[in-house]
Amino acid sequence: MGSSIHPKTIQEVKEKADIVDVISEHVVLKKRGKEYVGICPFHDDSKPSMTVSPSKQFYYCFSCGAGGNSIKFLMEFTRNNFSDVVLSLARKNDINIVTVDANQQENYKKQLSKREELFKILRETKNWFKTQLNSYSWK
Ligand SMILES: [Zn+2]
Repeated sequence: MGSSIHPKTIQEVKEKADIVDVISEHVVLKKRGKEYVGICPFHDDSKPSMTVSPSKQFYYCFSCGAGGNSIKFLMEFTRNNFSDVVLSLARKNDINIVTVDANQQENYKKQLSKREELFKILRETKNWFKTQLNSYSWK
């Protein structure tokens, strides 16, 4: 495809894709106090070891240590990569998908190297002045 997802879109997905909605599509969750518990899909679980926190937007399994946000859950559960998960979550939550295409990325890189070039010149100029000053004998 040659394009990557804009950080703005990733941020929006993180804010809108509620972890309880995401996980309860694959795991039966039961409410326990402020949190939810369910059978952990990442190890051979017999009792609900996985806790899902809606306030923290985080899941954690006390038995196998699996944990993370909704994107991480789907990456591990569906074995898809980061951008596939973000794209599917964006579509599901009616989030406008903004991508950075290859040309734009190239431009960003060029801008960056131009700036680096400028810094290099400044550094060299500074060094030159320093040498000049040092070779100057003050009387
Ligand atoms: Zn587990």
